[in-house]
Amino acid sequence: MYFVQHRNRIVMSLRSLQQKLCKVFPRRVYTSITCLFAKDENIAKESKPRTRDHMKRTEHSPRQKSLCTAQVVRIDDFSISIKGLQLFVTKQQRSNAEFKAGQWVDMFIPGVDTVGGFSICNSPKDLQENGIIELAVKFSDHPPAYWIHSKCQLNDNVKVRVGGNFFYEHKPFNNTLLIAGGVGINPLLSIFRHKRDRICDIGDSSTDVEGKTALIYSAKTCEDLIFQKQIQEMCMETNALCHFHVTKEKVNNRAAYESPFTSITETKVSLETISNLTKQLPPQMTNCYICGPPPFIERVEDYLVACGYPKNHIYYEKWW
Ligand SMILES: Cc1cc2nc3c(=O)[nH]c(=O)nc-3n(C[C@H](O)[C@H](O)[C@H](O)COP(=O)(O)OP(=O)(O)OC[C@H]3O[C@@H](n4cnc5c(N)ncnc54)[C@H](O)[C@@H]3O)c2cc1C
Repeated sequence: MYFVQHRNRIVMSLRSLQQKLCKVFPRRVYTSITCLFAKDENIAKESKPRTRDHMKRTEHSPRQKSLCTAQVVRIDDFSISIKGLQLFVTKQQRSNAEFKAGQWVDMFIPGVDTVGGFSICNSPKDLQENGIIELAVKFSDHPPAYWIHSKCQLNDNVKVRVGGNFFYEHKPFNNTLLIAGGVGINPLLSIFRHKRDRICDIGDSSTDVEGKTALIYSAKTCEDLIFQKQIQEMCMETNALCHFHVTKEKVNNRAAYESPFTSITETKVSLETISNLTKQLPPQMTNCYICGPPPFIERVEDYLVACGYPKNHIYYEKWW
């Protein structure tokens, strides 16, 4: 009990220790401490024979030709291990940074040799009107994420370049089903926000043209359900549905997650979760977007197909 109550403080102290030690023994120290306390299977998979190089992982993805400068204007702690970052792009540079909901940026950080790659979580309109690109970055000893967590300060400048072929395309009268595992919420939140902007721009009756939107959002713990409040507000605003799933702990405060539009369960996303949505989002009239760890994507795709969603209506962002 004592440990649970003080877990956040203990993890923060360990993380600060870890960040200092990382400079000396990057991989080994990082692994041993985070495996014990971060409870994150992605972090624990240290011996995977795969590249960590963002440019290699995305070598076949389309990307814009030019880079643009962006200034860090806001840094938030979304959770113990996830930082929120807002970057500002000036009006003169904005056309170079234009993105479609669901895309990511290459991030070039002064003094860091490795290029970072992070999904954009805000809407294209937010960039056009306010010059903002918003990111949510999980802690890692990979240099770009490590820089964001340990060195990044307000007013720092980075360079970004938009890329990716996973993005929302409007199909009139079609519904949108978004399915996120963990921090895979990022590109899907961008799509959700973009749909909200479209609905608000056209007016209430436009929900007919826009179709319905539903989000299934699964994470290990309640704390990992980042953007929960904003999602609930958007559901109310746009009559969208959201099913939160928490897979590794009991939900103490269910009332905070439940409303006429939102609900929470303590199970993994299942065939039943999807089949319960088929009445509201008929398979032939729905486009499905998934982002999460590969096993999650594969399982969810199988469920969607079993429920009658055509394969060519299913789009996903592979993590690696
Ligand atoms: C197209 C793309 C988008 C990415 N977007 C993000 C992001 O928004 N936030 C982030 O923290 N890291 C993102 N990453 C991962 C990031 O570029 C580094 O790979 C990561 O910081 C290095 O971590 P690692 O090697 O320790 O972990 P890895 O083993 O590489 O773990 C990957 C971790 O990165 C995250 N991730 C991977 N792909 C995505 C994705 N498409 N969308 C959202 N999260 C993803 C997840 O947190 C996952 O736990 C993205 C990678 C790619 C290829």
